[in-house]
Parts: sequence; C-alpha cells; structure tokens
Amino acid sequence: MRVLMHVCCGPCCIYPVKALRNDGAEVMGYFYKHNIHPYTECLKRQQTLHDYAEQIDLRVIYQEGYDLEGFLQNAVYREANRCRQCYHDRLKATALLAKRGKFDYFSSTLLYSKFQNHELVRSIGEAIGKSVGVPFLYDDFRKGWKEGVEASKALAMYRQQYCGCIYSEKERYYKPEK
Ligand code: SF4
Repeated sequence: MRVLMHVCCGPCCIYPVKALRNDGAEVMGYFYKHNIHPYTECLKRQQTLHDYAEQIDLRVIYQEGYDLEGFLQNAVYREANRCRQCYHDRLKATALLAKRGKFDYFSSTLLYSKFQNHELVRSIGEAIGKSVGVPFLYDDFRKGWKEGVEASKALAMYRQQYCGCIYSEKERYYKPEK
C-alpha cells in the first residue's frame, strides 16, 4: 500500500516511517510549512528532514511558498482554538495531495507526538479522509516515542523546542512574572 505521510519534522518521522515500512507500506513524506515560524526555523526543520530523508531513502514533497500571513489571519481572535484549524489545514492539504497522487492512505507524524491533541488529530483526519475520499491511516505512533527520541539524539538531529507557530514559541519561552 502507498501512504502519503504529513511530516512535521525529521525527528518525528523516524518511528512512524519505520513502523509503516515494517508493515510493508511504501511511504512518501509531505512537509507542510505555513505553521512553522519564523522562516529561519522552518528552513532549519526542512533541512534536518531533507538530510534524514536522504539517509533512509525517503522521498519527500516540500510544500511550495510560505503563507505566514494566511496562517496568522486564520489564528487571530481564535488563538485558543488555533490548533484545530492548524491540524485541519495540514491534514486537508495532505489528503488532497494523496488523492491527486492516487495514494491508498494518508497519515501524519502528528500521531507520534506526545505533545499534540491525539484524539483531535485522529477525528479531524478521519473526517477529512471521508470527505476527500482517501482513508486516513490511524495508528498510535506514540508507542514509539522513546525509540524515536533516542534515535534522533544518536543521529545528532536538530530537535526543535516548540511546536511551530509563534504562539507556541511564546508559550515555550515566556514565563510571566508572578
Ligand atoms: S501550537 Fe502547533 S498545532 Fe497548534 S497552531 Fe501552533 S503550530 Fe499548529
């Protein structure tokens, strides 16, 4: 089976790609950029993925453009619910690409992260899969969390410290004075 996997970053794809390949799947990656800020951080994550993908012979489609403005326009006044929209946009873009490329399934490395809203990713992915006509491949890749972290450290990969958007960067580093 052919699977198009939305990839948020190099470290997060280690376990899911390995697990799917072990199950006999042919995996291709799709790197989505609009939610990764600032642009220099996006480039750093892209380069890390690019280098790793070459090592493991993973073909990756890199999203064209960089729509920071569109991302922010969708998030403003809805900051508290921004992740729902962000998941939706990333998974919808992946599903549409999977349909165009005649993939059997689409999936996401978001299912690997312990820091994402796992059930929300799953429900949005499954709903998009039904509406677009390409099934969402669900697996709880979090079971490989430790393995993926250890592997990325052993490979000295760049490991980001926040999810992606500027809001998440603030949440990571800004500690209000008490
Ligand atoms: S915190 Fe992560 S999932 Fe949520 S909006 Fe920002 S980049 Fe997207």
